Amino acid sequence: MQFITPISLALCALTSLSSHAFYPNTAKYAISLSFDDARKSQVDVGIPLLNKHDVKATFYLMPYHMQGKEQQWKLAAKAGHEIANHTSSHLCTGNFRWLRKQDKGLEQSNLSFLKEDIKHAQQYIKTHTGVDANGFAYPCGQTFVGRGTEVKSYVPLIAETFSYGRTWNDETANDPFYYDQAQIRAFSMDGKTFSELKALIEQAKFDNAWIVLAGHEVGEKGPYTVDRIALQQLIEYIKDPSNEFWLATVSDVNEYINRKTKGHDKK
Ligand SMILES: [Zn+2]
Repeated sequence: MQFITPISLALCALTSLSSHAFYPNTAKYAISLSFDDARKSQVDVGIPLLNKHDVKATFYLMPYHMQGKEQQWKLAAKAGHEIANHTSSHLCTGNFRWLRKQDKGLEQSNLSFLKEDIKHAQQYIKTHTGVDANGFAYPCGQTFVGRGTEVKSYVPLIAETFSYGRTWNDETANDPFYYDQAQIRAFSMDGKTFSELKALIEQAKFDNAWIVLAGHEVGEKGPYTVDRIALQQLIEYIKDPSNEFWLATVSDVNEYINRKTKGHDKK
């Protein structure tokens, strides 16, 4: 005889959430397309392509690259793309010598500098697009400041300031029942052909997986460029209902998962 206990009821609810219809339109997987740095080719090449296919993506902006294209970024926000924050100074490891020379290596920085840097970007983005960003992408996907025993994580700062943070160059999709929204994992989509992107997605898939792809320039295939032909083929593949994807911005998927998994321990 089987007793119905609160635990078995909870397990039952969890099992039903894990079944096929987790995402809207009975999709089994979620996927988000994202682009970093506000590179000019994103507004010139990427956004027209996305708009043509009625696809909404997430853009992590930094003031330096937005200069001269502010109007186009405002239009991108109006068209429904997610506008988010990517700092002002783009601090990454100072092993990038050009950053180190400008005193912008994460090893030589601190949390108060980062806080101000992020605030400046937030203000600039708001002034020029009207958007008060609720998402953030860590430049270079790196989440630390300092060295050795003095290293500090800036993930808590992002968790306090934004609804979510996205990393980069990761090796896994996000499990809606486990992931940390302050460190949403993302694969790089730069420099890949469509068949390489498809293989990456197929390999990353698991039940209810949320796959986030991140790129930089959009144009001809290159180390920091999403190939526009590959992007077009990727969109067609994702939009094919037989592939069972829900395509939405990082913010939309994150909020959806938060609502859907409310009350469940993430473990
Ligand atoms: Zn970046």
